[in-house]
Parts: sequence; structure tokens; C-alpha cells
Amino acid sequence: MMRFIRNHFLFGFLILAEFPIFLSGCASQPLTHVAGPSSMAAGPSVATANLLSLASAPQTAYHEVGPMETLWRIAKEYDVDINTLMQVNRISNPNQIKVGQKLKIPGTVGLRPVIPLYRSRPWSYIVIHHTATEMGNAISINKAHHERGFWDGLGYHFLIDNGTLGKLDGQIEISPRWVKQKDGAHCNAAGMNQKGVGVALVGNFSQTSVSSRQLDSLVFLVSTLMKHYQIPLKHIIAHRDVPGKNTECPGTRFPWNEFISRLQKFTRR
Ligand SMILES: [Zn+2]
Repeated sequence: MMRFIRNHFLFGFLILAEFPIFLSGCASQPLTHVAGPSSMAAGPSVATANLLSLASAPQTAYHEVGPMETLWRIAKEYDVDINTLMQVNRISNPNQIKVGQKLKIPGTVGLRPVIPLYRSRPWSYIVIHHTATEMGNAISINKAHHERGFWDGLGYHFLIDNGTLGKLDGQIEISPRWVKQKDGAHCNAAGMNQKGVGVALVGNFSQTSVSSRQLDSLVFLVSTLMKHYQIPLKHIIAHRDVPGKNTECPGTRFPWNEFISRLQKFTRR
């Protein structure tokens, strides 16, 4: 276990992040996160967490670019140099990567979440969903939501993958709605699309269980958002518990009590 703290400017973002690095076999390590002091930052601050390991030694990985992903964020997620990524993939302009483009990621041992945190909206609730699908990633669900008539595609702000469609189990994908700080299209009752951050886990948790990595990532993400936006624990709600909703979402087998008890240690009394 190696810990270090980095504090530096990169592409206008102030980053203050603690990286508890661990490789496979250490999955019970506690999640920690430190968000940057955004009052000093030119852009959003960033929270990051545990590595989802790909291998115990550096190897080449491949990454399919999701909606509104940036090369900067991809480089940081895999902890590789952005210039190396540009060279290996023959990219001359880092702003011109495209959704669906396959990137070669050399010399990585894994991937960690990099969550941009903004101050422009007073988010006051977090609504938890499942996708009710066996498979999915931001690209596929973005497409599905477009086809359902959502003009802005992917209706959630965050998606936590389940290891299907080329994504890692527990990988956190960031929706364009979050990057643009737009209303969600995940829960049209009780004003939740306006005041609630929509977080969905890929899977149907009326039929299968949430994986431990998905739950770890959910606890990290929700606790990070709670801290940044000062959201109380009672405002972390399941879609089914929003008044006016008639749904099982996020599924009858979702471990709600375990999830809430793990969040309790992040709340101040
Ligand atoms: Zn839902």
C-alpha cells in the first residue's frame, strides 16, 4: 500500500488528491477521498479514489471514449501522461477525440475514478437507480435514452458499470449532464430532476446482486457528493422512495441498509 499526496496545477485544474493505491487482492481497503479546495480553483475540483486494478504490472489497455470524455480525464484515470497518450494514438489535438474512438493506453495498472466537482448548482438530493438491464455503459445507455426521446441522452448524471460492454466492474462514468451541470432526466417526480443528482448502477437488482466493486464505487461517489454539496443522509434516496413514483428501482435486492450504514461514517453529527 503506497500513499502519497499530490498538489499541482494541471490544465487549469487544481488537484489535491490522496491516492490510496492498491492492487488486486486488497479490495477491502477503505475508500478515501479528498476534494480540491475549489475556491482557489480555476475549474472544478476533482475527487479520486481507489484503483480498479487491471493487472499487477503495467500493461496496455484499450479504452472506448464515452460521451463528453476528455483526454485529460482519461489520462488521469489511468495515471498515464497525456502526451504519451497523444503520441501512441497519433492525436495532434486533444480536443478532437470522438465518442466510440478506441484509445490505446500504454503502461497502466488500472483505472480510478476522477470526479469533477462544481459549485454552480446547489444539488440537494441524490437519487439512486438501476438501469434494469443486464449490460450497459454510458455509450449504450446514452443511445437508448436518445431513442426514448431524451434530447440530451443519458438521463443520469453518473453511471456505475458492472463489467459489461468493455467497462470494468465498478467503473464510474460521468454523464454529459454532469459536465454541463444540467437537469437530470431520471426522476420526474418531486422536482428531483432539478434538485437531485441521478446516479445509476448498471444491472437489474430485482434479479441479481450489486457487486462489491459497484457498491464500493457508489459509496465513494455518494459520500464525495454529500461532502461537497453538504447533502444530509436523509436526502440520499432510492428512486422507489420518491413520493409519487411507482417503481421497484433500484431493485428489490439492492442492499439499501448496508449502503446507508456505510454512508453514516461520512456524516457529521
Ligand atoms: Zn430509477
